[in-house]
Amino acid sequence: MEIVIYSNNFQLISQTEKRYLMPANFLDLHIVDYCQLRCKHCYLNKGNSIMPVDMIKNLCIDFLKTKLPLSKQIILSGGDPLLHPNFAEICELVRKLNCGIRLSTNGILIPKYIDIFKKSDGIQVSADGNKRSSQLYS
Ligand code: SF4
Repeated sequence: MEIVIYSNNFQLISQTEKRYLMPANFLDLHIVDYCQLRCKHCYLNKGNSIMPVDMIKNLCIDFLKTKLPLSKQIILSGGDPLLHPNFAEICELVRKLNCGIRLSTNGILIPKYIDIFKKSDGIQVSADGNKRSSQLYS
């Protein structure tokens, strides 16, 4: 489980499970640390951790209290964030905080959740090339 808070110049200034209240522009929550794929280039130290919904809520609230976010967007990543067992609930709580959702996902489970996404959400899916050989797996 990882919380990544980026400063104005995009340098990592905190990587911890503790709650922090500090100036930040982006909140990138790695809500799970596992994934269905095994990409060769993956930097993830995979495990089986799930960030509790209460922790996600508290982190979002703390982040918004800083009054410094560039925009009210919460980044949900992982692993694959769509594998979080409470993913739909997390999206609901982010919306209740009047924040937009930004996803970093491998895209496999997007069809399962397609009805909960809105046009204003941002979904980033990695593609490493247009040939099968570009998609290398270990
Ligand atoms: S999809 Fe992303 S998280 Fe999953 S193995 Fe590939 S690089 Fe790692």
